[in-house]
Amino acid sequence: MTHFIDVILPIPLKKTFTYSVTEAEATFLKKGMRVAVPFGKSKIYTALVYNIHQKAPELYEAKDIHQILDEQPIVNERQLNHWQWISNYYMCSLGDVYRAALPSAFLLESETSIYKNEALKDESVLTDEEFLIFEALEHHSQLTIHQVADILGKKTVLPIIDGLISKEAAFIKEEIYETYKPKLVKYVRLNSNYTLDNGLQELLEQLSRAKKQKELVLTYFQLAAAKKPIKAKDLIEKSGVSSAVLKALVDKEIFDFYQIKTDRISYQGETNQIKQLNEFQQQAYTEVKASFETQNVTLLHGVTGSGKTEIYVKLIKEVIGEGKQVLFLLPEIALTTQIIMRLQNYFGNFISVFHSKYSMNERVEVWNNVLENKPKAQIILGARSSGFLPFSNLGLIVVDEEHESSYKQFEPSPRYNARDAAVVLGHLHKAKVLLGSATPSLESYYNAKQNKYGFVELTRRFGNIQLPKIELIDVKEKHRKKEMTGHFSDRLLKMINEALDEKEQVILFQNRRGFSPVVECTTCGVSPQCPNCDVSLTYHKFRKELKCHYCNYQRSMPNSCGACGTATLDTKGFGTEQIELELKELFPNHNIGRMDLDTTRGKYGYQKIIGAFEAQEIDILVGTQMLSKGLDFENVSLVGVLNADSMLNFPDFRAHERAYQLMVQVSGRAGRTKKQGNVAIQTYNPYHQILQQVSTTNYTEMYKEQLQDRWQFHYPPYYRVIKITLKHKDYTRVDNGINWLVKALQNVFGENVLGPSAPAVSRIRNLYIKNLVIKIPPKQSLGKTKEQIAKIRNTFEAVKDFRPIRFIIDVDAY
Ligand code: ADP
Ligand code: ZN
Repeated sequence: MTHFIDVILPIPLKKTFTYSVTEAEATFLKKGMRVAVPFGKSKIYTALVYNIHQKAPELYEAKDIHQILDEQPIVNERQLNHWQWISNYYMCSLGDVYRAALPSAFLLESETSIYKNEALKDESVLTDEEFLIFEALEHHSQLTIHQVADILGKKTVLPIIDGLISKEAAFIKEEIYETYKPKLVKYVRLNSNYTLDNGLQELLEQLSRAKKQKELVLTYFQLAAAKKPIKAKDLIEKSGVSSAVLKALVDKEIFDFYQIKTDRISYQGETNQIKQLNEFQQQAYTEVKASFETQNVTLLHGVTGSGKTEIYVKLIKEVIGEGKQVLFLLPEIALTTQIIMRLQNYFGNFISVFHSKYSMNERVEVWNNVLENKPKAQIILGARSSGFLPFSNLGLIVVDEEHESSYKQFEPSPRYNARDAAVVLGHLHKAKVLLGSATPSLESYYNAKQNKYGFVELTRRFGNIQLPKIELIDVKEKHRKKEMTGHFSDRLLKMINEALDEKEQVILFQNRRGFSPVVECTTCGVSPQCPNCDVSLTYHKFRKELKCHYCNYQRSMPNSCGACGTATLDTKGFGTEQIELELKELFPNHNIGRMDLDTTRGKYGYQKIIGAFEAQEIDILVGTQMLSKGLDFENVSLVGVLNADSMLNFPDFRAHERAYQLMVQVSGRAGRTKKQGNVAIQTYNPYHQILQQVSTTNYTEMYKEQLQDRWQFHYPPYYRVIKITLKHKDYTRVDNGINWLVKALQNVFGENVLGPSAPAVSRIRNLYIKNLVIKIPPKQSLGKTKEQIAKIRNTFEAVKDFRPIRFIIDVDAY
C-alpha cells in the first residue's frame, strides 16, 4: 500500500503539497511534525505535516520526503486550525502563516546559510559529522545547506544542522541578530578521584598547609549537603577566597568545572502579594467576571491610570491557579520593560517573554517551553507574534491597549490583526479574552455596544487623582503676537519651567508623520530625493546624513544643491531631533532625552531610555508615538504636544480617531500617581472638534461623531474594507493591471470598488504602486465576496502580461 502526506511549505503556495512516505514513516508521522522535502529542481524545505493519507495526487507524481525531523509534533492541532482561519480570513497561504508562526531556526531550507559561533567553548559535545561542519566553518565564513550536503556526501543534513544550532556551535543569519552569548553558568563538582562520603578527611590532610584551599574545600562540603549543583560563584563568595584559589584546586584535579545551560530570562527577586484592588477596581473586576459568564470577549474601558493592569493581574492569578496558560499581548515591545517588571513582581518565574527582538535561540527556547507546558511558560508576555506559540490549554488572553495600530501586520503576509486573531484563538481554546484600553478602537467599542462583546468601564484614576488638566494653545495667535521661541509658545515654556522648578519631569510629544525634517535648497527649492522611492530624503542631524525612511538608502549631507549647485541647502520642518536641540539651548542646565526609532535600536534600546527617565536622570523626554503607549512614570507632571495639527490633517478615515487616541494616551502619562497633571496642546486650530473632545476626555462624544462619519462615508465598523495593491518596476504594466482589475471588480461589486489610486509615496524601492479598495456593505457575505475576489485574481494572474506584477491583498486594511 502507498502512503502520502500533505505538507505546508513555507512559501506562498495556494495549496498544501503531497509527498510519498513509506508505511513505517506513515505510522510514525503525526500532524504537526516537520519533514525535510525536496522542492523544484534543487530546493530543500522544512515542511510541516498537515495530513496523512493514502490518496495519490492526481496532477503530479509525489516525490519522496528526505527525512523526518521531529520525534514529536512541534505544532498542535489547535494551531493548525488557527492558521487555517488566518489563511481564510486574510486571504493568504498557509505557507505564509507557517513562516510567520515558527521561529526561523525551525525552518531551515536549502538557501539558509549557517555561521560559526566563535564563542563555542567545548567542541567535544559535537558528533563526528557536526564537527566536520564546524571545522569547515573555519575556512568558510558561511555554508549553505547544499554545501553542507556536499561536504558530508549525503542529502539528509538538516538534523546535523539542527544539532549544531542547538549545541550553539553555529547559528543562522537573521536581520536583527544580536550576537548571541550562550548563558552558561559555571558549576563546581568534586573530581571523581574523591567522594563526598570520605573525601573530606583525605583532602584536609593533603591540604593541611594551604589554608585558603582548605577553607574552600570545607565550604564545598557544607554546600554539598544540600545535594544541589554548586555554582562556582557561590562557592567563592561563601568561602571568602579568590577565584584563583578555586582555579588552583581545579588544576590539582580536586575539583572540576562544568556548565549547565540556564534559561536566559530568569527572575531572581522575591515575589509579592498582588495588590488589594480599590472599590472601583473591585467593582470592575466583578463585572468582568460576570461578563465572562456569558461572553467570551469583554472590553475593559478604563481611563489612563485607572489601574487596569492590577485587574489583569488578579484575573491572571486565578487562571494560572487552575493550571491554565495565559497570553498577555502588548502592542509594542517598548512596553514590555515596565510590564514585565510589574508582572514578575507577582508571578516570578512563571513568565516568559516572546518577541521579535529576542534572538533566535531565545525564541526557540520559549517555543519549546510552551510546547512542553512548562511552568515558566505559563504566562507569556509578548507582541503580536506570540499568538502563534504552541499553547495547549489557554485560559485567558489579555490584549492590552487593544486600539493600537501596531497589532496589525501590514508587511509581509499574513497581514493579520493580532487582536482579532487572538479573539479567534481564545475561541479555539474556549479561553476568555479581555481587551483593555483607555481609548478603545471604534470597532471594539461598537462590538461592545452591539453586545457582541461584554463591556466594563472604569472611570476613575487610582488614588482618585483627577485626569490631567488639558489646555489648548493657539499657535497662530502666538505667532502673531511674536510669543513663539522656535517651536515653543511662551505658555508652554512657562509650564515647563514651573514643572522643572518643582523637580518634576516633562514629556514632549512630536508626531513623526509628516514632520520629517526635509532638506531644501533656498535658491531653487529642490529637495534631495531618494533614488529608489518617490520621496524626499530626511535629514539626520546627528550623523549629518540624508536617509530614506522607506528603503534605508543613505548618503552624507551634500555641501551644495545637486540641482542648481548653490551652497544654500537648508533644513526645514522639525523632527524630534530638532526639538531636542532647541531644548538643549533653552534649558542648558537640564538633561534632555529623546525616544524615537533612532534612539531605541537594539534589544535594550528602550530599556536604557525608559530606565534613565524612571531614575530621573532625564528631566525632559522628547519622543514620538512610542511615548503614548501605556508607560507609567511617577514623576511626570507635564505633557506637551508640540503640534496637534499634523495628526488631524492626515488623509485617512481613521485620522481623527487615531488623533484622539494618541493625544489622550500621551496626556495620560501626566500626573499618574501623586497629583493632577497638566497637558498643553499647541495647535493652529483650537476649535477643532477632536481637540475639544480631547480636552474634556469625552470618548463617547468622539465615538458618536466618528461613527456617524463612518456610516455616511461607508467605512468600518459598518462596511468592511479590502485593499488590493499592485507593484511592479514598469509603470505602464502596473497601470494596465490596475485598470483591468478595477473594471473586473466593478462588474461584480459596482460602485463599492474605489480607485485606482496611487499612494502618497507612489514608488518604493524602484517599484511603482497602485491601489484599489473594495468596500463590503453590512449585508453582503464576506465569504462569498472573498471567493469572487479570489476568482478574479486567478484570471488576472492567468494573463501573461500581468503575471510578474506583485499582487497584495489586505483584508481589514486599517
Ligand atoms: P492603567 O494601566 O489603567 O493606565 P496602571 O495599572 O498602570 O493603570 O495603574 C496606574 C498606577 O496606579 C500604577 O503606578 C499602579 O501601580 C497604581 N495602582 C493601580 N492599582 C493599584 C492598587 N490597587 N493598589 C496600589 N497601587 C495601584
Ligand atoms: Zn528610498
